[in-house]
Amino acid sequence: MIHEIFPVGPLQCNCSIVGDEQTREAMVVDPGDDIEDVLAILQRHGLTVKQIVITHAHIDHIGGAAKLRRVTGAPVLLNANDQTLLKMLDVQATWLGMRPPEHTIIDASLTTGDKVRTGGLVADVMHTPGHTEGSICLYYAAEKKLIAGDTLFAGSIGRTDLPGGSYKKIMESLHGPVLALPDETIVVPGHGPLTTIGDERETNPFLGG
Ligand SMILES: [Zn+2]
Repeated sequence: MIHEIFPVGPLQCNCSIVGDEQTREAMVVDPGDDIEDVLAILQRHGLTVKQIVITHAHIDHIGGAAKLRRVTGAPVLLNANDQTLLKMLDVQATWLGMRPPEHTIIDASLTTGDKVRTGGLVADVMHTPGHTEGSICLYYAAEKKLIAGDTLFAGSIGRTDLPGGSYKKIMESLHGPVLALPDETIVVPGHGPLTTIGDERETNPFLGG
């Protein structure tokens, strides 16, 4: 598994490029900005983008998706419950003093039970509402790796005070599917350093650690 993790944009969202070493197919997760950098990394590894997956429709995670879609032709996949936020991208841009991004559409919705295949790599989709209505996590069971978006951070959890946020729901998502994962699972949060499910279970103050 090729897995490049790098911060993009002014809010330093962790963008992931996940690639199959044999087929050279790739998935890009949360291309919030800096699409030239994303394309350079894809080219360096000789990867072709098969899917653009968005963990949730906050501008720092989705801002570059339309441009990447235009350049690569790959579909944009996210949970349809974030459609309302998607329609608010211009408003979100205003909050941050950014230029509004290109109009972004959902090619297909992803929810619990769906699998996203990139070559031989398989990610299970987990719908984990709370930070937003449509927040999802991607779990690579074979590699024991979770791309968590803004649901879980090292030592913290996603904020729930923005439109569509719910403290009750994020707690249900965390204590439900997320903490059901094995302790050794590597967590790639939407911002900041990597962690593991075991470390968060033990020490995250929001999870009773
Ligand atoms: Zn967010």
